[in-house]
Amino acid sequence: MSSQPHIVLPWTVRRTRLPLLTLRCVDCHSHTATTGDGKFRVNAHGKLLDVWLLVRCVSCDRTSKIPVHERTHVTALDPADLHGYHVNDTDLVTARLLDPALAHRGHYTLDWTGAWHLDTPPDRTDHPWPVQVTVTFDDPIPVRPDRLIAHGLGISRTDVHRRIKCDIPLRRTTSTGFTFTVLPAP
Ligand SMILES: [Zn+2]
Repeated sequence: MSSQPHIVLPWTVRRTRLPLLTLRCVDCHSHTATTGDGKFRVNAHGKLLDVWLLVRCVSCDRTSKIPVHERTHVTALDPADLHGYHVNDTDLVTARLLDPALAHRGHYTLDWTGAWHLDTPPDRTDHPWPVQVTVTFDDPIPVRPDRLIAHGLGISRTDVHRRIKCDIPLRRTTSTGFTFTVLPAP
């Protein structure tokens, strides 16, 4: 006997825009900032460079500087990165904003609300059961597996806990890939 046909569906969590920053404004006490179009500022003191990522309060437009490099010798920087800082390279803005080390130093967290999308293959109703789904993340976007699965399958979270077998805890936020199995509705 051959083994059961087995279907594996790929889901992908994708960024649709840059997340906002949860960062307290010293002027208006709003807690939300944006990188806007994405700009760096580079200041040179001889051979030492300061590089900041500029962010703007969404309420009062006050600009804050997130330190990227502080008093760093010019030769210690990757020339491609240095060029990127000078031309406000979009990919470099993204990379620095999403860098957990920078978030830690800059005292901000990322607000991903409305900034991502779940790509699922076209719906089919003729799945052989059970169905396996692999979830991959294009960016480290924190999601709760049970909410993501409920959204992706169009079922309630109660049903998720009843019908899903998952290799990670369903209620614990994750931003790394995981796999789950959907059992048929009882
Ligand atoms: Zn403000």
